[in-house]
This record gives sequence, C-alpha cells and structure tokens, in this order.
Amino acid sequence: MYRSVDPRIESAKARTMREVLDRLAIPDLTALGDERVGPCPRAGCGGTDRFSANVKKGVWRCRICDPKGGDALALVQLALGTDFMGAVEWLEGAQGVEIDPAEVERRQIEKQKADAKAEADAARYRAFAKDQAAVIWRSALPFAGSPAAAYLAARNVDLAGLPYSFACFRYLPAHPYVKKIGRARRELHRGPALISAIQGRDGRFSAVHQTWFNPDAPGQKATIIDRETGEAHPAKMVLGSKKGGAIRLTGTACARVLVMGEGIETTGTALVADAVLGASYWAGVDLGNMSGKQTGRNSGVPDLSDVRAFLPPASVERLIYIQDGDSEEKMTRAKLTAGLRRAMNANPYLRSHIVRAGDGVDLNDLTQGQPENE
Ligand SMILES: [Zn+2]
Repeated sequence: MYRSVDPRIESAKARTMREVLDRLAIPDLTALGDERVGPCPRAGCGGTDRFSANVKKGVWRCRICDPKGGDALALVQLALGTDFMGAVEWLEGAQGVEIDPAEVERRQIEKQKADAKAEADAARYRAFAKDQAAVIWRSALPFAGSPAAAYLAARNVDLAGLPYSFACFRYLPAHPYVKKIGRARRELHRGPALISAIQGRDGRFSAVHQTWFNPDAPGQKATIIDRETGEAHPAKMVLGSKKGGAIRLTGTACARVLVMGEGIETTGTALVADAVLGASYWAGVDLGNMSGKQTGRNSGVPDLSDVRAFLPPASVERLIYIQDGDSEEKMTRAKLTAGLRRAMNANPYLRSHIVRAGDGVDLNDLTQGQPENE
C-alpha cells in the first residue's frame, strides 16, 4: 500500500529561488551576480546585508539568525513564520486543487530558463568586477616607502629590509569604499588603502584585495560605518575572481617549497621570520579558497569535482599551510587538510603539512619538525 504523496509538495519544490524571492517581495535586496543581499526577512531580524540568497544554487542564509540557511521552501517558512506544509500551501494553494501536469512542466521549463539567465548574469558580473579590479590596480602607486608599507610594518610585517620587490602590493592614498546597498552603489568611506594583486593559477591578474587603513593610528584598519544605518562593514574587500588564486608575496611559480597563510599578515609574518629558506610565500586570500569544496561539512576530504580550487604549481615539492592562532579549530583544520589532500592528489610526491602561527609558537621550530604527510 502506498500512501499518496501530496502533489503540491513536488510542485512547490520545483519553484526557483528567483521565483520565491519575487513572490515574497523582500524589500531592498541587491543583486550581486547570483547573490541577492539585503535585510533578513524573518520578523524582528532585519539589518541591511546580513541576509543573502543565491538564485543559482537555490540557497539562502542569514549571518545573524540562521548561518546554515536552507532552500527556497525553507525561506518561505522563515519569511512567513510558518511550517513546511504552511509554505507549500502558500505557494501552491489549498489542498484538493488539482495541479495540471502541463503547468508543472511549464514551471520546470521556466526553471531551466531562469537557471540559464542566472548563469549569464553571473558571467557578466564576473567580467565587470574583473575590469573594475584592473582599473584599480593600474591606477595604484608603488608600495615601497608608502603609507601602506608603514601600515604593514606597524603590524609586525616590516618588509622594507627584505631583498624582494613585492610587486604584488600597491598603494592608493584616497581609495573609495563603494558598496552596492539596496538599489544604489554607495561610497561609505574614502581613505588610504593597501592594494594587493591576486593572480590566478595561470599567473594572470584576476582580482584585487583591498585593505583600508586609518592614517592617524599606526597599524589600525579603517573603521567603516554606514552613517545612514550605523552598520559596520569589514575594512577588507576583494573585487574580481579570487577562486584558485593567491597573493604572491615572493617567489615564482617555479619554487620547490611554498608557504601559504590565509591572510597577508600571517604569510608576511612567516616571511619576515624567514621561516623556510628558499621558499615562496603566498597568501591564499581565504580559507575556502585554500580548501576548495569538501565532500561533507568539515570532513577534511576534498571534493575533486571543484576543478577551480587552489592547487600549488607543479614544481612545488613541499606545501606548508599556516594555521592562524586565532582561528576556529575544527573548521579551519578541516579546510586546510582538504586543501593539502587536494594538492597531494594532484601530485602524489608532494609533501605537505600544517604549522600553527601565533600563541608565541616559533614557526621556524615547527617547520623543522616531522611533516604530517598522509
Ligand atoms: Zn535573520
């Protein structure tokens, strides 16, 4: 005996995120490629940019009330404060109303069209962001002797005495911090910034990493507050495509040893300490980029279908990931492990290990230890 399944459920699941967002009419959402960013629709949550939905992946999350998020049906539940069947009913109408199979098919075709359009929009946004990044990079000034170099030096990354040109860094004295909020692109801040080039796996320029700093307080990041809402924004922003890329502080793609930290400072600190003689030092921009996709949450196992994830150049025989001292242990460890396993899968002769930065631990001591090859 089969218990007949309510046909409305199938129909509700075929709804696209785009369609559900339109139906819910959440105010002040900004389109950034596939992402829709804005206030959280849950009653009492709100904010300005804590909520994001991805129309291509069909998922959403709220930084404050639901960091894991869910699918389009879960979004209806969140926004209307209803349960699963309440969401189905809101989308499909009361039970007993027959849904025409032709209507279901029409919706599926609609969904495919929407997916294709989302893909095209995303590609257009990526091209736009990369162009903007190139304009910023070309307009920036030399790093050596600049306030950007002084900013890093005040954060214990004094690169002045080192025999490298640091071609990856530049400086802009009055760089606008522009963010798309609601319908408009708004300038929230203007001031000096450290501009870093992100190079893709092929070595070509692919994005800029921007850090705004406070010219009146040595070594302090800029405080960026939206005066209209009082909301604080991070002082760092990447523009362009960072996926698979790195900020190459020193060395070429021909080095045999590559040391990689997540941020410029972690990587720069290791470089200043000259932790590994003759190594290249690259910053991986963010943990997700160093890791690539995993097969499960915090599994530490790389999803090898993520073909655009970071991989070290083929010449690298030893890959060292630096784990930040202040990072969340389980998640960080899983990501770094997944990234190293991905690299070892591509090159079975690669030796790799994780060293821990900070907490007064000497990176140099750790790199002399046994590699965690597995
Ligand atoms: Zn929320």
